[in-house]
Amino acid sequence: MKWLIVLFLGTAASAFGTLATNGVTVRRAHNSIRLWSESLANQQLTYVAFFCSFLAAFDFTEDYKNLCFLEIFFSLIFFIVGLINIRRHEEFVEADHERCAPKCANRLKGDAVWNILGTNTILGVASLAFTLGLVLSLQLGKR
Ligand SMILES: [Zn+2]
Repeated sequence: MKWLIVLFLGTAASAFGTLATNGVTVRRAHNSIRLWSESLANQQLTYVAFFCSFLAAFDFTEDYKNLCFLEIFFSLIFFIVGLINIRRHEEFVEADHERCAPKCANRLKGDAVWNILGTNTILGVASLAFTLGLVLSLQLGKR
């Protein structure tokens, strides 16, 4: 349980960091949906910190150590894939409608919403599922 709380707090801190940076620096159209996608990409780095703490805190068998390293590796890859998706947000919005101004009030269609959110949502769910699987299989849920 304790480790799940650590994971939750790490994810919340990551999301807060993304929101706060966005709040003070960014003025753009369709900000909230893009921000969701960015928060999901950034929270992949929470898993890197989470598994480094894990490796420091426990004497795992080689197999579990390798699983932790594998999850760190995948989180970094997912973060990079997420960034590549974020680079294309502008393109997805432009494909949805023309003349998008900073205060644009057009609603994005399903395709654009999926293009912006889909990749980072799937990768976020994958990381969460791997991590919950590992934490629960180690019975660390009880600690
Ligand atoms: Zn627009």
